[in-house]
Amino acid sequence: MHEMSLAINIVEIACQTAKQNSAKKINSIEVEVGKLAGVLEDSLAFCFHAARNETLAENAELNIISVPGKGHCGDCDKSFETDTFFTLCPHCQGFSVDILEGKDLKIKSINVD
Ligand SMILES: [Zn+2]
Repeated sequence: MHEMSLAINIVEIACQTAKQNSAKKINSIEVEVGKLAGVLEDSLAFCFHAARNETLAENAELNIISVPGKGHCGDCDKSFETDTFFTLCPHCQGFSVDILEGKDLKIKSINVD
């Protein structure tokens, strides 16, 4: 399951960061999830609850921030929001669309004690 490995990764990174800062526990972890990253947020939250057991993140909350997909058109040089990789430019109907944002999952901040 894709979300399970992501959740384990998030917990591992958070725990490493906590240890580097000699923290005793992790209060919350904030992650940015791109709309085009192919991640189901509910599923990620569910997996996080399983992955955090018996780690410093045991009682940590996972705050998921959705990042909309953003495309840029090479023909008319305009940017626009999109929720799919396969899109025409809404301004000129061009095909030269690059996806700039919304593809990634990133840890934004980790709150520790
Ligand atoms: Zn265009």
